[in-house]
Amino acid sequence: MITSNFFVDFKLIENVDAIDGIVNSLVPENRSSVREAFEYLNGVVRKYADNEGYNITMGKNAFAIAMWMLRYINEPGMTSRFAITQRDVFERELNRISKEDNENIIFYCDSAGIEATVDGNTFHIPFDFFIKNNKKISGFKYRLVYQKLSRGTIYLSKNQFIHLLREDFVQKLMDVYSRMGPGDSQNIFRKFIGDLEKIKKDFLEIKSKNTISLGEVDFTMFPPCIKTYITQMRDGENLAHLARFTLASFLHSAGMSNENMLNLFKFAPDYKEDLATYQVNHITGVISGTEYSPPKCSTLRSNHLCYMGDDPLCARIKHPMQYYEAKKKSSGNYRKK
Ligand code: SF4
Repeated sequence: MITSNFFVDFKLIENVDAIDGIVNSLVPENRSSVREAFEYLNGVVRKYADNEGYNITMGKNAFAIAMWMLRYINEPGMTSRFAITQRDVFERELNRISKEDNENIIFYCDSAGIEATVDGNTFHIPFDFFIKNNKKISGFKYRLVYQKLSRGTIYLSKNQFIHLLREDFVQKLMDVYSRMGPGDSQNIFRKFIGDLEKIKKDFLEIKSKNTISLGEVDFTMFPPCIKTYITQMRDGENLAHLARFTLASFLHSAGMSNENMLNLFKFAPDYKEDLATYQVNHITGVISGTEYSPPKCSTLRSNHLCYMGDDPLCARIKHPMQYYEAKKKSSGNYRKK
């Protein structure tokens, strides 16, 4: 059986006075929570440096303190990496508790306000929950068109449902983070400013060394959507499935080698070498026999993945490759494939 405060106490994170009380307390148990949070964030920086796993389970107090430390540090790439490591912990724990009984997952859902039921190994979940959380998960198993849907309910395997729950967990984390005040974080950590500045400095030093190489391909000619995806990935944001697909198929069409593409995808906070290699090889036709093209602008627009702003060329084209080709043509550097 699991407790109603499953893994993360979101209410505690939002209680500024309680966090201040713990961080600045002399009680040994509270001091050890502060140490645990520092150790964890140093681990996130180490993981960023050497790309090795760092995803241990944290105590509830240490987790809440770490979130406030991240608010103080205010580096989106570091916050994303923290969220991803804890997302993996969350998934691991869901798998563990469900080995005893699938009802344990339903118990968690009840405490998190998610309407779901289970019948044997099939989970019944609301349509809304599915489409809110499937966007960043790659693979046909998470596309709506492949789902069994009846009267607003979608039927999923345990594995599929756990993947959706972990995305929901990250979303909840980022929502709470967005409501945390930077001013409150400075006040809470008034005695620890030097230690937090040191973690931030270490992170920024590693970040400045991680430069992206695009090989022969000219970034300056890329359309705003592709530039945005690359920037988001470099800053540690997890791209939506369609944005990843668009980026890989665009770069392939623009002439980038699979090797350079994989070097770029290493910047994704949830990078996994075997999965990334499979996806890139699939999109570029190495294993599928089909070289996929990027989607049209209208598709990207309807998925909120168009970042045209007031770019005049975007207003005249219908496909991201048209943008790239038009730019190359106007620079006199154009060779049609
Ligand atoms: S108009 Fe097309 S090329 Fe331009 S940003 Fe939007 S999706 Fe990309």
